[in-house]
Amino acid sequence: MKRRAVLYDLGNGVTCIDDAGNSVCYVVCGEKKAAVIDTVNGMENLHDVVREVTNLPLVVINTHGHCDHIFGNVFFEEAYIHPADVELHDEHFAMKAKTTMEDAARFGATKEDYDFYMSGKPCKLNPISEGEVIDLGGRTLTVLLVAGHTPGSIALWDDKTGILFSGDAINGQEWMQLDESTKLATYLDSLRALDAWKGKITELRNGHNTYAMPTGYIDEMAQAVSDILAANGAGDEDFDGWFGPACKRHFLPVTEGWVLYTNDKL
Ligand SMILES: [Zn+2]
Repeated sequence: MKRRAVLYDLGNGVTCIDDAGNSVCYVVCGEKKAAVIDTVNGMENLHDVVREVTNLPLVVINTHGHCDHIFGNVFFEEAYIHPADVELHDEHFAMKAKTTMEDAARFGATKEDYDFYMSGKPCKLNPISEGEVIDLGGRTLTVLLVAGHTPGSIALWDDKTGILFSGDAINGQEWMQLDESTKLATYLDSLRALDAWKGKITELRNGHNTYAMPTGYIDEMAQAVSDILAANGAGDEDFDGWFGPACKRHFLPVTEGWVLYTNDKL
């Protein structure tokens, strides 16, 4: 199999692993344990890749239940996920089980790649919830629920660097059009709850990009969602999303991000 992972050392014991440009995950090392934040797409043995970074005992955490953040769970014994996303996790693994060799071939997979991809089984899941603190030894990650993109989306705040690992909950191109996405008002509440963390968050690291996003993005997204709700969606362009139903797109002028939503989210 061709190598997929590209590693970026971000300093301070944080490594970003880019899985062939499809999604990224992070390894955050403390003195006693290392956290693996998301497990990407399950096409390459992520456990082996993480062992290139650290030999510490691992705590695996899924920011949410979507396939491109959980399928690598098969290489670990257990993972933490918010209970509100367990059903979504199960649905996506059930979809994976239906993948045919024909499907895989469309993405350039060989029979060997396909057999490897299909052989992994989902690991044991443990619940994690808002306010929990994961102690890695000399550094902690605090769990913040950011319901929106999915009902159980979480972000993790690192007390050593101030980085907020935000998964897809805050990622610059916000997908709120999905069946499992919450109403926009719920997402707005989630974003406003992050006001309490202002001054502590130094930058955002999401589940799809190898670069950091500025903290101002949170306020800009909150303003955008607030504007959408105030206008009841008027003025936003129709957008034929890559996934999910046809939807609308609202632009964020400063950070050049956008949010997708359907009328039933208003
Ligand atoms: Zn997602």
